[in-house]
Amino acid sequence: MNLSLKELGESLPKKFQAKQIYDWIYHKYATDFSEMLNLSKNLREELQSKYAIETMEIINREISSDGTIKYLFRLVDGRTVETVLLRMRDDKFDENGDVLQQAKYTICVSTQVGCKVGCSFCLTAKGGFVRDLTAGEIVEQILAIKRDAEIGYERKGNIVYMGMGEPLDNLDNLVKAIKILSDENGLSISPRRQTVSTSGLSTKIDKLGLMDLGVHLAISLHSVDDEVRNELIPMNKAFNIQSIIEAVKRFPYDNRKRVMFEYLVIKDINDSLQSAKKLIKLLEGIKAKINLIYFNPYPGTTYERPSEKSMEEFADYLNRRGLLATIRSSRGIDISAACGQLREKETLYMQ
Ligand code: SAH
Ligand code: SF4
Repeated sequence: MNLSLKELGESLPKKFQAKQIYDWIYHKYATDFSEMLNLSKNLREELQSKYAIETMEIINREISSDGTIKYLFRLVDGRTVETVLLRMRDDKFDENGDVLQQAKYTICVSTQVGCKVGCSFCLTAKGGFVRDLTAGEIVEQILAIKRDAEIGYERKGNIVYMGMGEPLDNLDNLVKAIKILSDENGLSISPRRQTVSTSGLSTKIDKLGLMDLGVHLAISLHSVDDEVRNELIPMNKAFNIQSIIEAVKRFPYDNRKRVMFEYLVIKDINDSLQSAKKLIKLLEGIKAKINLIYFNPYPGTTYERPSEKSMEEFADYLNRRGLLATIRSSRGIDISAACGQLREKETLYMQ
């Protein structure tokens, strides 16, 4: 459903009924208005004719040996998107079998079918751009996965907008989804648990910043030279590295937190220690964290995955100079589910 609590309330005979409906959908995981027995039969029927709770269908699940699940959803118009559920560890139990610590999880969400940005290393880009997802479709990926994987609503988890598409190119729907997800009467996932990853639309970073939602920002930097970055992310010609850095500096940030810079490492393209050196200079004055990602090759690409040695040298170089750098673990690698490595199999765009 595409409605905020307020919008839903305005469309009902009594405003408080919106909370009841949110409770059914987001807490009890109802999929049909007929289940909502504390509403009158008339209202249930009216809702049934006006709205749909489930608009997307799970048509495939690929389960990795590490427990990561990649879901394929079919949307109302037959298009498809992928969403990934990453589980960080299993539940821990005490001697009585009670849960001591619950497994953590992260859901990697798509915001568009395809993407306009056209990065040369990205599989999502290969199918071109098809359409934006609605706020309802963004929210529903999370709701459907929690329901499918039997994750109770009280278990909050983290959301990363790192699936298919460029979230800031679909800003209005993204922001609406962030608000619906964080509504305390609904899934109640605070914006602080939500990370927006962007290839660097500086003007939209500013726009998001002005809204002061409290979301985290991740910048897909990938290069410290505009010339190289132009090749990797064609949009860099319009929004160059400096413009992104300036927008990040303006972004309202909880000063206990760090801005995440993602750096996709491609062999012989951006993996030299010279690049690492420039990176330190570039990020001076920003409380940053670097996440180094191995390029994940696919048939037809000329780019190559860097060696473990060069990756570790790169990370060490940064860490020794005080720039916090981690190497992203390749969860779900056997099913190509690592965030950002989602792809459209040839047939998937077809209706
Ligand atoms: N459009 C947004 C969010 C989705 S892409 C963005 O670009 O930030 C999420 C991440 O996956 C990005 O950091 C992206 O660069 C990375 N990615 C894309 N293709 C990849 C590949 N072949 N191997 C590894 N990471 C990749
Ligand atoms: Fe779009 Fe992100 Fe892929 Fe670039 S890396 S084409 S911005 S999804």
